Amino acid sequence: MMLNESFVLKLKSSCDIYSVFSSYVELKVCGANMRCCCPFHAEKTPSCFVYGATQSFYCFGCGVGGDIITFIEKIENLPYVEAIRFLAEKVGMKVPNLEQGSSQNVDSSASIKRNRLLQINRVAALFFHKNLFSEQGKPGLSYLKARGLNKASIVRFGLGFAPNSWNGLLNHLKLQGFSMSEIEGSGLGIRSKSGGFCDKFRGRVMFPIVGLKGEVLGFGGRLTGSGSGPKYLNSADSAVFRKGFLLYGLNMVKKAYINSAGNKVVNVNAKVQSLILCEGYMDVISLHQNGFSNAVATLGTALTQQQVLLISRNAFEVFVAYDSDQAGVKATARACEMFDEINFKVRVLNLNDAKDPDEFLKSKGSVRFKTLLSEATSFEQTLFERAKLNFKLSSAASKRAQIHSLCKVVSKMADVLRREVYINRICAEFGLTKSVVAGHVNYLIKQSRKKSARKSLQFKVPSSSDVVEGRRFDEGRCFDGGRRFDGGQSFAKGRNSFDEAYGEKSAASFKSLRAQEGLFRLLFNHPNFFEKMKNFNFDLISSSFFRKIFEFLKSGFEKGCFPAFSSFREILNNAEFGYLSKILNKNENYEACGVDEAFAAYIKILNSEFEKKSENVLKMSLSELELKRQKNAKLKF
Ligand code: ZN
Repeated sequence: MMLNESFVLKLKSSCDIYSVFSSYVELKVCGANMRCCCPFHAEKTPSCFVYGATQSFYCFGCGVGGDIITFIEKIENLPYVEAIRFLAEKVGMKVPNLEQGSSQNVDSSASIKRNRLLQINRVAALFFHKNLFSEQGKPGLSYLKARGLNKASIVRFGLGFAPNSWNGLLNHLKLQGFSMSEIEGSGLGIRSKSGGFCDKFRGRVMFPIVGLKGEVLGFGGRLTGSGSGPKYLNSADSAVFRKGFLLYGLNMVKKAYINSAGNKVVNVNAKVQSLILCEGYMDVISLHQNGFSNAVATLGTALTQQQVLLISRNAFEVFVAYDSDQAGVKATARACEMFDEINFKVRVLNLNDAKDPDEFLKSKGSVRFKTLLSEATSFEQTLFERAKLNFKLSSAASKRAQIHSLCKVVSKMADVLRREVYINRICAEFGLTKSVVAGHVNYLIKQSRKKSARKSLQFKVPSSSDVVEGRRFDEGRCFDGGRRFDGGQSFAKGRNSFDEAYGEKSAASFKSLRAQEGLFRLLFNHPNFFEKMKNFNFDLISSSFFRKIFEFLKSGFEKGCFPAFSSFREILNNAEFGYLSKILNKNENYEACGVDEAFAAYIKILNSEFEKKSENVLKMSLSELELKRQKNAKLKF
């Protein structure tokens, strides 16, 4: 499929990378450019650079980089063509038929597939919703009513019921013209062991998971009496549904926010003051029904770093309102740690003896819940209160355990002063000497450092194939917390990773690669130097990556249109394109020697490295010949 190239160019020139970035993250001036804490991995000190001159970005922490469209693709989880549509809408440009009139070879099949998936989900959501109010849906409706939901909430959240049949939805989707492979791709139908095909959700109350623009991305299904299988079941991850990247109810929060502000402009990027983070879908709906329209939940799995970043992009503060059981307290501690890692304000709700927010609302009402919010304290504070309550009555072993868990929380605080304050508090409130408490905290810090050192040893250095194939970036694996790359140092500098990236091994080739990199940057910034490359032997470019780039530059130059940075995505995969953004934006200081001298120096290095390489090859083949000769001589005897 072709893409309307002139439109894309016009779009890019109408979008300013700084303003697009700053609607998601806080940008700070850094020299001639801007930088921010990376929106794709958790960090406290900014390592993501945004370059206005080249309209590109690169994160030295996790290696993600590219142009404005790459940014939208990643942050909104959209395929290329959809990212273009998204940007166009943002700047109020009318989108033409994108697939027509272009020479840019961009595949829009991902976009078509995505739209079909969204259509299937929408049809399924309507099917489930209608079904809830039919005879078949009785078990679902009575479950929801028993849980105290009113009809308005049920309609607002589009809740539904999947009939307890093998092919109720399947037949409906087929009638609507969807193929079996499309249905399978949506995760709504599954193959049975015998090879047959059946509905995935049977006998379940269905919670559609809706994106910010109202699109149905996937489903959560809760078992009712008549069905079988696990209590909660989610759609499998698909091109439109990634559990770890979404929050249930966030679409409603945005709507509610816009309504309450009386602002008719739909600005989904506007931050809300706070979010209430719960564990379950029912908690979210119950909170919304009681007027707390800022409740969200993870999708039945533990909180991920991406969800933490998503929350930080959408609010100024978060209240953690997890279940009050032991698992919930543990999850709360982890969540607080994760928010603390990015310096995001987090408070914890103390539900006292209620199991979860839903139960609290039912037993104590929304006024008390409001008080709960206003009284919410930091996680450390909550722990202190709890420990203080139980301490006097506890056994010696339990006292030790409580102090230990407090020390553990303190040991995770990044700020030394904050640690000191809390150490003093433990001493004062529990009658302990400072040397004991501080000693234990330090011991815990050392233990955790040892643990993370062991962990980082286990992390695999990305292999050349990972980088070159773009696998490292594509499956969102680089978002594993970015920790795998230890601050990205391995990729940002250091010979080994650079060599590995292009499959080059020797010190000589490293020198040559640096020259290729420099030459590219020079030509890009001073295209007139291409005149001097007429008789250049392109065999001197040893890396296939740079050869691709130089050939592209050359053909552009010959056609009289020197390529813009963004056009390189035509010939590069995501990882390569991101890396190109890094090398393009490296600061080059020609003042010391001048551009002409730099150009001559690069060519000289390339020549001499090429000669060395040819010599080595010659030596190698001579020694091989010698070996063969000796072998033959031996055979003759
Ligand atoms: Zn990053």
